[in-house]
Amino acid sequence: MDFHTLNHRRSENQSKDEDYTPKPSKPWSFLGIINYLLREQRLFFILIGVGIATLFFSVQPDFMKPTPRLQTKVNDFVPNLGSQSLAFQSHVSADPITLLRPGAKMPLGLKKNPLRIVVTGGAGFVGSHLVDRLLARGDYVIVVDNFFTGRKENVMHHIGNPRFELIRHDVVEPLLLEVDQIYHLACPASPVHYKFNPIKTIKTNVMGTLNMLGLAKRVGARFLLTSTSEVYGDPLEHPQKEDYWGHVNPIGVRSCYDEGKRVAETLAMDYNRGANVEVRIARIFNTYGPRMGIDDGRVVSNFVAQALRKEPMTIYGDGKQTRSFQYVADLVEGLMRLMEGEHIGPVNLGNPGEFTMLELAEVVKETIDPQAKTEFRPNTQDDPHKRKPDITRAKNLLGWEPKISLREGLPLMVDDFRRRLFNESKGSSA
Ligand code: NAD
Ligand code: UDP
Repeated sequence: MDFHTLNHRRSENQSKDEDYTPKPSKPWSFLGIINYLLREQRLFFILIGVGIATLFFSVQPDFMKPTPRLQTKVNDFVPNLGSQSLAFQSHVSADPITLLRPGAKMPLGLKKNPLRIVVTGGAGFVGSHLVDRLLARGDYVIVVDNFFTGRKENVMHHIGNPRFELIRHDVVEPLLLEVDQIYHLACPASPVHYKFNPIKTIKTNVMGTLNMLGLAKRVGARFLLTSTSEVYGDPLEHPQKEDYWGHVNPIGVRSCYDEGKRVAETLAMDYNRGANVEVRIARIFNTYGPRMGIDDGRVVSNFVAQALRKEPMTIYGDGKQTRSFQYVADLVEGLMRLMEGEHIGPVNLGNPGEFTMLELAEVVKETIDPQAKTEFRPNTQDDPHKRKPDITRAKNLLGWEPKISLREGLPLMVDDFRRRLFNESKGSSA
């Protein structure tokens, strides 16, 4: 091809390019899209792709990042009664695959992830019942206890369960664990026990709570404090509402416990405001039930054990002081609702049924032995004269109220005490 021919073809091509006008773009229409998908088996290949992805994620649910820990935003210190997002998340028992992978992401609408939960004081009376419920729900539970008042027998029935661990540890010393929630119960609750070594009691309340709040802060766990009606002291208001600040002797023999718990509440609130730790505060009123220490010195356990042993029931003072007794299963339900809900508290958890000690002795007589005797002893220092919870807040915010009356709950405790005292059957109480 000579030079002229080449030039001629180039100029021909150039003029063709200049003549070119692009196709006008068609407006998008629904039918157009359907036609496009149906052409060249496009729809078929898309469906195959979706099928493969679905299969892959259902076999490997934890392929994606672990679910972030429970990070519910908390409301104000005094929660808004209007926004009652109760949100009691029921964690149904999970299957073995999800149990093996605590952080596993699950398909929407299916089971919730099991949580990793520490229960300090979990070998004690209340703690062991809480542990039963959490394990039954499908969660992983680590009990941290120094066995001061707790007993291994209370949790023995979980030994061998791969979701259960028991650590002998004193909460006065720091501890590092990876968990989602901390139920902080570690503290002797019976006056006899907390007065036995008051310095240790206040250390447990202050340093123990500091350590557990520090742990919560470090790992981003939610923290629940089991405070007490003792923060109201010998109350001047009756019944006691959560906004009552109390009437407490700061230098008495009960102060290691009362003031200790008040400081523990302060610490919880300071960690919430200052370090964004999600906290919950339960103020627990007198609780009874199976697994109470037989000789732990509290009034219900004393009266029941004494009546069963055919000893006189020891009434301190004139017996006209009052208490409100709640059955342990009611309390555990309230604690779990508080932990899972949106409200910091403090929330009273107690049974408003109020009894004098003389009346309590009568109920124990009816339940165990109509011939049972009583004897009077001097009362202890700073003993509160009356106590009864106002549970309006728990009702409104948690949808909780106790279900079991003293006359219904006492026989359940008596069965357990009878077995343990007279060894009618071996093994742990239900
Ligand atoms: P409990 O004495 O049966 O249980 C307390 C548990 O904490 C025991 O297992 C004990 O060994 C453990 N513990 C104590 N000091 C510890 C430490 N330094 N380190 C680690 N573990 C330690 O008492 P409970 O009745 O189960 O009470 C549980 C919690 O509820 C306590 O915090 C108590 O103050 C609170 N509370 C209970 C009642 C009630 O009537 N049961 C009322 C108000 C508040
Ligand atoms: N109490 C009693 N006899 C007992 C033990 C206790 O009369 O054997 C009284 C005690 O004086 C108090 C009430 O029972 O008024 C509750 O005492 P407990 O130790 O059970 O709990 P508290 O509410 O004082 O922490």
